[in-house]
Amino acid sequence: MHSDEALRRQYLDAMGITRWERRAAPVAHVVAPNAAPVAEPVVAAIPSEAAADWTVLEEAVRACTKCPLHATRTQTVFGVGNRRAEWLFVGEAPGADEDRQGEPFVGRAGQLLNAMLAALDLKREQVYIANVLKCRPPNNRDPQPNEVEQCEPYLIRQIELIRPKLIVALGRHAAHSLLKTDLALARLRGQRLSYHDIPLVVTYHPAYLLRTPSDKRKAWEDLRRARALLAEQV
Ligand code: URA
Repeated sequence: MHSDEALRRQYLDAMGITRWERRAAPVAHVVAPNAAPVAEPVVAAIPSEAAADWTVLEEAVRACTKCPLHATRTQTVFGVGNRRAEWLFVGEAPGADEDRQGEPFVGRAGQLLNAMLAALDLKREQVYIANVLKCRPPNNRDPQPNEVEQCEPYLIRQIELIRPKLIVALGRHAAHSLLKTDLALARLRGQRLSYHDIPLVVTYHPAYLLRTPSDKRKAWEDLRRARALLAEQV
């Protein structure tokens, strides 16, 4: 077996996703026929003014002291991935591992996110991953409204620069922040939603799925719906 495929199988088996696939109702396997080639070294391909915009934004985040979280962070966690990605995944806030390493979703929830990506035949480098908050809330408490308000412009700017074709909101904090709603996650899943003109799919946060693996199957349904929405856009 090709090593990428072996890795994918390993992820899927370890995270139970092959089992979701087997149990899920058969659907046409939707793959965008002209999906962009991926995993290219992206920075070189970005026009220089956009690269400068990214540098300005990264510096603004790194130096940010707009909310009290700056006092307790080890470092800011900006975002990672392909800056011209079709897929943007938005989580809540860095946890302890992310705060230490400076990269979103590198802990256990991140391993599950990687597995979810692998189930979609995607690698981390192909998508963009960011959080609503760029600094870790102490003891992983929920983001506070003032923290979201102060940090949100950074995510909005990331979205403007990436111009993704699809946004996946991971959990209620991401969904609430992007959609400006306080509807329950259960009411948002499966709905046709958008952030400005970009289709947005709400699914469970990987940390929740680690605690509630029985909902992985529903998350897989959300991701397949997301893939179909992206394929519709060709
Ligand atoms: N949970 C999140 O929402 N984001 C991370 O980066 C890690 C865990």
